[in-house]
Amino acid sequence: MTNKRIAMAHDKKIALVAHDNKKHDLVEWAKFNHDLLAHHTIYATGTTGELLEKKLCIPINKLQSGPLGGDQQIGAKIADGEIDFLIFFWDPLEPQPHDPDVKALLRMAVVWNIPIACNRATADFMISSPLMDNEYDRLVPDYESYRKRKILTGD
Ligand code: PGA
Repeated sequence: MTNKRIAMAHDKKIALVAHDNKKHDLVEWAKFNHDLLAHHTIYATGTTGELLEKKLCIPINKLQSGPLGGDQQIGAKIADGEIDFLIFFWDPLEPQPHDPDVKALLRMAVVWNIPIACNRATADFMISSPLMDNEYDRLVPDYESYRKRKILTGD
């Protein structure tokens, strides 16, 4: 499969999500990186977004709470090219009612070659990358051949 280039602008669209036991971590990380985050557009699932807005005093585009569809909304935005980055502190020690949505969101990020940080160390490396404040062409497989694949219909 050949690749297509998708341009990521200087100001990026970043989605922030944290499960309940990881929200404290994400808030601390976001506070520490407040200045670096300020010029990007931030999206978040409902409860994570409320918390971040309160603690950081920056505008957040809040979606539904994760278990109520927020993860799926972020996944849909990735598929529509409306999210460039995903910071998703998911909890490895607690089953979630929306586990299938969590898996689906992580899958969408891989399908569209979106950078994902699932823990603080990765998020630190990502936010401090020189690429963060530059334009960047993301390579995404050209899914046209997949769309045009032959389907046996029995006709
Ligand atoms: P929340 O959702 O920010 O609404 O808690 C997070 C998630 O579980 O996906």
